[in-house]
Amino acid sequence: MLTVIELLRGLWITFKHLFVKSVTIQYPTEKREPAERFRGIHRFILDEAEIEQCVACSLCARYCPSSAIEITPAEDEKHNRRVLTYYVDIGRCIFCGFCIEACPKEAIMMSKDFELACYSRTSTIFSKEALLTGPDIVKYK
Ligand code: SF4
Ligand code: SF4
Repeated sequence: MLTVIELLRGLWITFKHLFVKSVTIQYPTEKREPAERFRGIHRFILDEAEIEQCVACSLCARYCPSSAIEITPAEDEKHNRRVLTYYVDIGRCIFCGFCIEACPKEAIMMSKDFELACYSRTSTIFSKEALLTGPDIVKYK
């Protein structure tokens, strides 16, 4: 008798949920907006003159606990320090955000891009040119 009652209770719960709005979404055609503080892949930030803010100080690379950042510095014609190459390996990155915190120029930010699946280890390495594109950054305050 107890089994029948439990069975009916289970069926009743299932039946009730037939009329409740579904909480699942049809990803990837439907996407949820990540939380405000979500940390996705890095984004290189340009100033109003479309110039990179990065001065290749390497603080981000030094703070990175995963050694995921590689930087080559350079100088422009006015002897300002600039970044020649900048690579982030998101295969190593743990998205801790320490690099963002360490940057004195706010030259990099973490975006909300999370669709980073790929088929090879070389595809996890992003150059600064690749980090320039993507949806606009909304800075969390
Ligand atoms: S988010 Fe963390 S692990 Fe990833 S590159 Fe920055 S400091 Fe390194
Ligand atoms: S991103 Fe920021 S911390 Fe990293 S090298 Fe450039 S200026 Fe320095």
